[in-house]
Amino acid sequence: DGRWFAVRVAPLGSHGLVLVLAEDLTDMRRTEAIRRDFVANVSHELKTPVGALSLLAETVEGAADDPDAVRRFAGRMQYESVRLNNLVQDLMTLSRVQGDEPLPELTPVTLEEVMAEALERCQIKAVAKDIQLAAGGEDGLRVRADQELLVTALRNLVDNAVAYSPEHTRVVVSTRRCDETHVEINVTDQGIGIPEAEIERIFERFYRVDPARSRQTGGTGLGLAIVKHVTSKHGGDVTVWSKEGHGSTFTIRLPLIDTPRRPAAGATAFP
Ligand code: ADP
Repeated sequence: DGRWFAVRVAPLGSHGLVLVLAEDLTDMRRTEAIRRDFVANVSHELKTPVGALSLLAETVEGAADDPDAVRRFAGRMQYESVRLNNLVQDLMTLSRVQGDEPLPELTPVTLEEVMAEALERCQIKAVAKDIQLAAGGEDGLRVRADQELLVTALRNLVDNAVAYSPEHTRVVVSTRRCDETHVEINVTDQGIGIPEAEIERIFERFYRVDPARSRQTGGTGLGLAIVKHVTSKHGGDVTVWSKEGHGSTFTIRLPLIDTPRRPAAGATAFP
């Protein structure tokens, strides 16, 4: 059935009896193959900006007496360096969150803080496409988190929402208490959506529905893998609803720190 075994045969005494030991190596081989694929992917992803940078450096040297060309090449070198930097940054974040060890320090943080910080960091890209970023939800919802990582995860979702949406649309980030124990953060866009057959794979490292489009928007292909691992490290999960040509909603669900439900306006609280 496609399983792999290491079989060891050892003689037992002098009567011709043998001991047969079979060790199931299927998982080990699978882990090894995944690791090899990952290293090959990383090498490939690093090769592109590094190759471009060295080529540009050579070209700029040859164009020393043409200031316009120098400016143009310098701009492209800057672009490639940003790409390289994003990739290294994402690889470092991923290596922090994809292991088995728990995160060292989780502190209570409010979702407003996380949302405000994530949105602020996405603002420039949204303004450039005239995409309106809106935020809302219940106040005072708190989760136990590594704030920086949670901001990174939410920022990745908002960055994607902006990157995969046409100009003059809206991206809405909202929080919602699902029940007494869990809270949701939803990121909804009016973008290109994700084909149903691809949804299952988009959380894999380096998986892209449209590689050319992802690169063009400066994506590293690691954003959603980071979101998946960060939420799982916080005891939560991430899910997606999407309709091609209409838009997507990504939902991060997290355990809530026990807070009393706020009384609705006009209602009286119990003493
Ligand atoms: P990337 O850096 O390519 O954006 P991600 O891991 O963040 O990598 O996302 C993986 C792929 O999932 C993207 O390349 C894109 O095809 C798809 N995707 C992610 N978010 C959205 C979205 N909001 N709308 C449409 N497609 C999306």
